[in-house]
Amino acid sequence: MDLDLLADCGRCSGLCCVAPAFARSADFALDKPAETPCPNLRVSVPGRPDAPCGIHGSLSERGFPGCVAYDCFGAGQRVTADWREGPGAARAAFDAFAVLRPLHEILWYLTEPLDDAPEDLRAEVARAASWVSGLTEGPLAGVDVASVRAEVGEVLGRVSAAVRGSSGPGHARADLVGRDLGSGRASRRALAGTTLRGALLMGADLRGVDLGRADLLGADLRGADLRGAALGQTLFLTGPQVAAARGDATTGLPDRVPRPSGWG
Ligand code: SF4
Repeated sequence: MDLDLLADCGRCSGLCCVAPAFARSADFALDKPAETPCPNLRVSVPGRPDAPCGIHGSLSERGFPGCVAYDCFGAGQRVTADWREGPGAARAAFDAFAVLRPLHEILWYLTEPLDDAPEDLRAEVARAASWVSGLTEGPLAGVDVASVRAEVGEVLGRVSAAVRGSSGPGHARADLVGRDLGSGRASRRALAGTTLRGALLMGADLRGVDLGRADLLGADLRGADLRGAALGQTLFLTGPQVAAARGDATTGLPDRVPRPSGWG
């Protein structure tokens, strides 16, 4: 299995700027219907390798931090149809992207380095990765993404519990919005090895916190302060989560998670 799970915008037709709908919010400065080009998109000719966003260098300042935090996990460059080539091609491109993008995200989780997981679980994860990778080869029309997500989520939950040495609820889906989680020496270690799956950590102060083998699958880190925090060993962290947070050169990240520009 040889998969590229990092976006290569130069090999994509800007699908993430066309296919999704945006609701005007703190993340997007305007409403945009689905399958409609964002007005900031500079439509280039098919195959032309450029950055098509006209405000690419100032997205956050112009009210589009949601675009900074978006990642297709390499799905965009897998779509062979080009939405700019007419309605039929557009339909094919949007339908393919709607399936490939979540499958690529699932593959990101399934390719997490898990050297400390039990061998039987690692084998199970490898089988699941092979299965999902096969689904991306098509046909995509019959793929039930919700079922795939549920099935893989169950496996990842067991892996997480085994690696962390705990199957308790931890802080899964906890509302930790704006909380100061980094004050005091003890609290800076308190989250290592816990589960923060789906936790709301928007604006939380995690400065200097050692998250150890914490499970961050689906945690909302928008605006969380990660300066000096150690996330290098965390489970299931993604580029979009990191891009939506605040960090600096002292923030530790897993090797495979891209360091946002501006973090030093
Ligand atoms: S603002 Fe730029 S990156 Fe965001 S959707 Fe529009 S064209 Fe794409």
